[in-house]
Amino acid sequence: MQPIAQRVIVLGLDGAGNRIGEANTPNIDRLLGGGFLTYSARTAVPTISGECWGSMFHGVKPELHGLNNSIAEQKKYPTDSPYPSFMKVVKEAYPDRTVASFSSWKPINDGIIEEGVVDCAANARADREHVQSLTELIKGDNDFKLLFVQFDEIDAAGHAFGYGDPLYLEVIAATDALIGDMLQQLDSRGLMEDTLFILLADHGGGGASPRNHGSDHPQDVTIFWGCAGPGVLSGAASEPVRIEDTAAVVAFSLGVEAPAAWTAKVPSGLFEETVR
Ligand SMILES: [Zn+2]
Repeated sequence: MQPIAQRVIVLGLDGAGNRIGEANTPNIDRLLGGGFLTYSARTAVPTISGECWGSMFHGVKPELHGLNNSIAEQKKYPTDSPYPSFMKVVKEAYPDRTVASFSSWKPINDGIIEEGVVDCAANARADREHVQSLTELIKGDNDFKLLFVQFDEIDAAGHAFGYGDPLYLEVIAATDALIGDMLQQLDSRGLMEDTLFILLADHGGGGASPRNHGSDHPQDVTIFWGCAGPGVLSGAASEPVRIEDTAAVVAFSLGVEAPAAWTAKVPSGLFEETVR
């Protein structure tokens, strides 16, 4: 398998559901313009961060990866699991290259990603700290192979004000501005062109209850999922993208074979036929 991208960046917007289109998001719009974007992707059930980010990283549904919030808070994901995270899979394929994870929700770095995989892990107290973490990651001649970033303040606003509330949409806009700062840094270093970007939410909210999530209501389960970069076609898939498919897209774009036990698959219609 040939890689089609030099590096991958996955930007995770906690609790954003499929609502980014309702907020002012000029940076996300520009990034995904001409790329692939669906507002009808599906996350895992129950629609809770441990289960959903777990499915994104480990390429399978929660019944298989076994993660939930309290497990992710208490212990590291086993390194001998048949469902390794895409972080581990990429690190094993590129042992000399940097794999980084910046997360405002600690259990991602502390429990969901296996021990010894991430070269640069930053647990932020505020989402804006990710901008500085990126500056440090790419200073000098430093490059990286894979970067995951989790923004937590959208979900916090959903719990505080209600999912879809104007104040919640303002936090989506503020997160977009942080993403804009990060894109500017990447651009000034010439790191945009051969990078594959994936943007997604782990879950929505406001389905069963206005200030919560976790149910199988469509407002909780439905997420946006966007992708832009080398070989990516514009438009949206004919069949719904599932959150676990993210793992397959990361592996595919870096030319790494996906573990046999992953149920993740590259969405049809995402990449040009010539690169598949
Ligand atoms: Zn939440």
